[in-house]
Amino acid sequence: MSEPVVALVVAAGSGVRLGGDGPKALRPLVGRPLLQHAIEALISGGVTRVVVTIREQDRAQFETALADIDVPVDLVVGGAERQDSVRLGLTAVAASGARIVLVHDAARPLVPPAVVRAVVDAVRSGATAVVPAIAVADSVRTTASGRSAVVDRSTLVAVQTPQGFDVTTVIRGHTYVHEHELRVTDDAAVCELIGEQVTIVPGSRESLKITDPVDLLLAEAVLAARQG
Ligand code: C5P
Repeated sequence: MSEPVVALVVAAGSGVRLGGDGPKALRPLVGRPLLQHAIEALISGGVTRVVVTIREQDRAQFETALADIDVPVDLVVGGAERQDSVRLGLTAVAASGARIVLVHDAARPLVPPAVVRAVVDAVRSGATAVVPAIAVADSVRTTASGRSAVVDRSTLVAVQTPQGFDVTTVIRGHTYVHEHELRVTDDAAVCELIGEQVTIVPGSRESLKITDPVDLLLAEAVLAARQG
């Protein structure tokens, strides 16, 4: 049997930008919660256990939504910011004894299993921090100097999840950013801050992040095309 792989799926946000009632992770996409789609993709890609960060007030809804998942699932109450939720979830991951963790946003329900497998394989092969990424399709400008200036997009990539880690390394990174009160937007960045190199594997444009209502429409179209 191959080595266990735990997915830490962060779902403790409120999803204000998407609108509607309740947590974004439980919003339906063709009749099933975003979170269910995400976890099934992770399992198809090799995940053997799942830890989900939630808000305490949503616990009963999450328990119902996750009742039929066929790997062990632990629910952990998240924190004020995404990085707090990840840090708290990692404690449960460490308790499972696994060496490989994937940190995934519940808001990316359509990640292809091949992307999940590529991330896992890179960690298995010795990388300590792995991100899937895609080329930037739009032309990009920066407004940092007060005036706009074009940025060479050929050197840029857009980073997705799941990001894969050696468990000990990512816990060290999150402990470091917590102790130094630093703010980060993704988990590979915490590893970089403690001197680790980040490995990039190809992501997918289908792995879109559900943020605004239009993203749900796009996701429905992707699913319809997959079902052929
Ligand atoms: O807000 P945003 O869409 O960037 O959140 C990304 C992911 O992090 C979402 O899946 C959200 O549920 C999760 N999150 C969390 N804890 C927070 C804030 C966000 O688990 N405090």
